[in-house]
Amino acid sequence: MTGGGGRVLLGRGNAAVPRRAGNAVRRRAERGPGGRTGGRSINTVSLARQGPRVRSLAEERSEEPISGGDVSEFGEEQDVVLVGAGITGLCAALALRDVHGEDVKSFLVTETRDVVGGNVITKEKDGYIWEEGPNSFQPNDFVLKAALDAGCADELVFGDPTASRYVFWEGELRKVPSGPDAVTNNLLSLWGKIRAGLGAVGLLKEPAPDTEETVEQFIRRNLGDEVFYRLIEPFCSGVYAGDPTKLSMKAAFGKIWILEKNGGSLVGGALNLIKEKKDNPPPPRDPNLPTPPKGQTVGSFRKGLQTLPNAIGATLGKKVRLSWTLKDIDREGGKYKLTYTTPEGPVCVRAKSVVFTTPSYVAAQLLRREIPDAHSQLNSFFYPPVGSVVLSYPKTAIRDEMYGPDGRINAFGQLHPRTQGITTLGTIYSSSLFPGRCPDGEFLLSSYIGGTLNQGILDQTEEELAAQVDKDLRTMLLKPNAPKPKTVGVRVWQKAIPQFYLGHMEALDAANEAAVEAGYEGMFLSGNYNSGVALGKCVEGAYKVADDVAEYCRELASMSAPAAPASSEEESFFV
Ligand SMILES: Cc1cc2nc3c(=O)[nH]c(=O)nc-3n(C[C@H](O)[C@H](O)[C@H](O)COP(=O)(O)OP(=O)(O)OC[C@H]3O[C@@H](n4cnc5c(N)ncnc54)[C@H](O)[C@@H]3O)c2cc1C
Repeated sequence: MTGGGGRVLLGRGNAAVPRRAGNAVRRRAERGPGGRTGGRSINTVSLARQGPRVRSLAEERSEEPISGGDVSEFGEEQDVVLVGAGITGLCAALALRDVHGEDVKSFLVTETRDVVGGNVITKEKDGYIWEEGPNSFQPNDFVLKAALDAGCADELVFGDPTASRYVFWEGELRKVPSGPDAVTNNLLSLWGKIRAGLGAVGLLKEPAPDTEETVEQFIRRNLGDEVFYRLIEPFCSGVYAGDPTKLSMKAAFGKIWILEKNGGSLVGGALNLIKEKKDNPPPPRDPNLPTPPKGQTVGSFRKGLQTLPNAIGATLGKKVRLSWTLKDIDREGGKYKLTYTTPEGPVCVRAKSVVFTTPSYVAAQLLRREIPDAHSQLNSFFYPPVGSVVLSYPKTAIRDEMYGPDGRINAFGQLHPRTQGITTLGTIYSSSLFPGRCPDGEFLLSSYIGGTLNQGILDQTEEELAAQVDKDLRTMLLKPNAPKPKTVGVRVWQKAIPQFYLGHMEALDAANEAAVEAGYEGMFLSGNYNSGVALGKCVEGAYKVADDVAEYCRELASMSAPAAPASSEEESFFV
């Protein structure tokens, strides 16, 4: 979505210490007597608040009964089955093929829809290219590697790192400070800047409490109220469409949270991190990886984000099975038995290992019978609705002050704090960010509306949502005489983005532990509720879960391999 502020880039989330799912081979060794892991009872984990019971298409399909005749067996047993061909499932499959071919000889990716990509949906029509889900990604090396391995790196496009980000505050679009302009910038008052600076170095802040803090508590304590209300609160809308009074700082913005924990203050932690990196430099970067421009950039592809899942899907070929809906998962003889509805009728696949990359509520539903404790934990994660509204205006409709001296609007977009009387969460200036998004002379704007604090969008029509966004844009960005926009696309996501509330990490741990308890070795829970919601985090999580799966397969193979023949020296003793 959108985002903004300081060192945090628009459209990025950074969940904490990503949780790896049930590598039960390793975890079993960690279990104490009686099979409990660390003796923690899952009943002590508080369940996050749930929203109204809205059902998504994937959820409905997963729950429909199996029909259509006898269940046929799918050929040979697979080493791994990945459930879901969103960006996580696809990138994990790519990593299994390209990085772990030695350990993983066979795998399938199964997807309930008839296209790959999950949330990543690009549309093209009448000279417009627009996104219905995510708009851009933070180009970390995992995403760049995926693009390279899928053969679409040449199509990458990057946003101008000097592009401005705006926050609407007290009737004005104000630039988000980005480095040198932090002192002169008018988004924060002088006192707000002093408070933030003193807090960041640890001179003016309360010590961290023993209990888990919300984003609001953490930021107000460390950086003061202004940074919270003017930067971080809108940023939470931009990344999570969420409520910062409920999101956990540790789970939702773990990379920032850990700085204070490790260094006593945010600056102390950052300095420690720099030193740590200097002492233990990362391995040299693969010279074949594309190099994005330096600074706060974001990435996409010339023809939109769906280029990446489409390219991965094409390179994986028949390993991806579309319109396959997982209906049931069973453990039989130490293996997994997965039952699908497919266009050819019900099919059963047997596998050594399974990776769930579906939304958590789908995994919860599928595990409810065999692992009720995992079901209740995974089902507790809340996904609010979000509407994406794409409108096009003539360029002349945009207020003159938005144009630079070169006659261009060099900006990423704008965010709207909930206190400022604007319903729309944020707007991305799609056609100023990436080339070729709309016909010449037009300006394409992608806005998001809804989220945790405005679930009422589910009762509104698409026309009403577009009208609301247009009304908001007139207050902030458009000239008074701007003509009516062209509505390019509207999509309402009934269950959009998982919220990392207080207790999120513990709930994930409890779900994994319940799976281990139930003997579900080699089952991995992955996807955005695990790795972090930003695409870059999902891809990083995909490569990590592929490492874990490969390790599991290697351990399995070593356990089932015949004993190695004794060495010739030893033989001479006995023969
Ligand atoms: C409106 C919106 C805007 C966003 N904006 C941004 C942004 O600008 N930048 C950014 O970095 N991130 C953004 N995100 C977040 C990001 O898009 C997601 O976190 C990410 O795409 C999730 O990928 P995933 O593969 O983990 O899950 P998903 O994309 O949800 O994939 C899961 C897949 O599992 C499939 N599935 C479900 N049930 C079954 C079943 N029973 N059998 C088989 N398959 C099944 C689903 O059909 C789906 O394809 C946005 C998200 C939304 C919704």
